[in-house]
Amino acid sequence: MTPQSERRVKIVATLGPAVVGRDALRALLQAGVNVARINAAHGSADVRSTLIADIRAVAAEMGIRIPILFDLQGLKIRTGPVEGRESVPITRGGTVEIVPEAVPTTESRIGIGYPNLLGVIERNSRILIADGLIELLVESVNVGSATCTVGRGGQLNGRQGVTLPGAPIQGGALTEVDHVDIDFALAHRVEYLGLSFVNDASDLIAARARTTSLGKDAPGLIAKIERGEALANVRQIAAEADGLMVARGDLGVQLPPERVPRAQKEIISVANEFGLPVITATQMLESMITQPVATRAETSDVANAVWDGTDAVMLSAETAMGRYPVEAVQTMDRIIREIERDGTVRSQSAAKKLPNAEDIELRVADAIARAAFTLSDQTPASRIVVFTLAGSAARRVAKYRPAQPIIAVCTEEAVACRLNLVWGVQSMVLPMDDEPDVMFRTAGKAIVEAGWASADDYGLIVGSLPMLRVSGRTNLLHIRMLGT
Ligand code: PGA
Ligand code: MN
Repeated sequence: MTPQSERRVKIVATLGPAVVGRDALRALLQAGVNVARINAAHGSADVRSTLIADIRAVAAEMGIRIPILFDLQGLKIRTGPVEGRESVPITRGGTVEIVPEAVPTTESRIGIGYPNLLGVIERNSRILIADGLIELLVESVNVGSATCTVGRGGQLNGRQGVTLPGAPIQGGALTEVDHVDIDFALAHRVEYLGLSFVNDASDLIAARARTTSLGKDAPGLIAKIERGEALANVRQIAAEADGLMVARGDLGVQLPPERVPRAQKEIISVANEFGLPVITATQMLESMITQPVATRAETSDVANAVWDGTDAVMLSAETAMGRYPVEAVQTMDRIIREIERDGTVRSQSAAKKLPNAEDIELRVADAIARAAFTLSDQTPASRIVVFTLAGSAARRVAKYRPAQPIIAVCTEEAVACRLNLVWGVQSMVLPMDDEPDVMFRTAGKAIVEAGWASADDYGLIVGSLPMLRVSGRTNLLHIRMLGT
């Protein structure tokens, strides 16, 4: 058994210069990575293509499925470069001019690479630079520039992120760069696209229009909740997304950081209720970028995300550019296992209510998933085996957080791969047979052969009759010994 198949909560690791080459990648995956994230904000197309090929090759060699989350940068605004020195002092209480292009920064002028800048700020708007290290207050918007006073000062490096809290987004969350990156991601058949700085459901609908042509191979869309607007619109976003991310890094700049813990619980609870996978992200083991041991606060943070009901926890710079990438994954793996050891983490919100679906068959499907959860408590079943066409039946069972491992039996490789982000789900691909008894027996044998259960283990089977013709039609529960 691999760490990937034993643990319920999944680990997403961002790849970057800290892990180069197939040997380093193999060591990282062996430590227990379930999902590989590529951040489109860094690296060239060549580097990314090599990385994707390496992930595919190493995963195949290890006999595991590693979905790739290709994370689009979205409207990430940056300051201009600093020339001739490391950084420029921006003095508290002083006055600076800001201009809407990324010209070099000086003591009295900051270039901001966003052409619409002057149209979305007004007197008293706040501008946060470098995760809020520097705060500017707009005094007046002039022609071609704006005058600001420096509320919080500091040493400003080149090309730092700029946050405009509450500023309206013009033209949707997908930028021109994102469109180029989407083409790249689709050509490489990535399993998930991360959508940064989404505002509302229309951003998901716009992205979906770009991806549906791939049919079953279309990537799942992960909406990153990292703006106050997205948090306010989280339910309408969830209705259009295939997953959510609690993007605590930017969320904690757009909103005061002390509002992030409650937002985390809210976003996770909405995702649980919608049966969507949710990733808790950013600074989870931040100190491990430079040290081999996590702080107690970080250890508690990972544990609390598990208790909150997250599907996955994410490593960013820890694995992308830190000194201890493998140790960071191992640390996360150990923390999650310890929390999961005394039984499962049961999601309160998911069990709370059935979806208010108009579609009677969807209501039936959800009732069956809930019944699987109840029955798994009351029968000797030690595995839940879900036959799933598009993956939604497996997600629906997972949302109730049953005590048993969930084994998804799929017909499509892409569906099986995507399911590895979902809480508690392991997946396999088998050819379908119209005869349920043949199908159940074949699956049971395959599960035993994979080492995921013993021949005398009972499986609770969730499926549909007729066998897997249309998705969302789960209507069958069946209990049998897997080896028979
Ligand atoms: P990022 O998103 O790492 O792409 O910025 C995650 C976050 O903001 O927390
Ligand atoms: Mn972000």
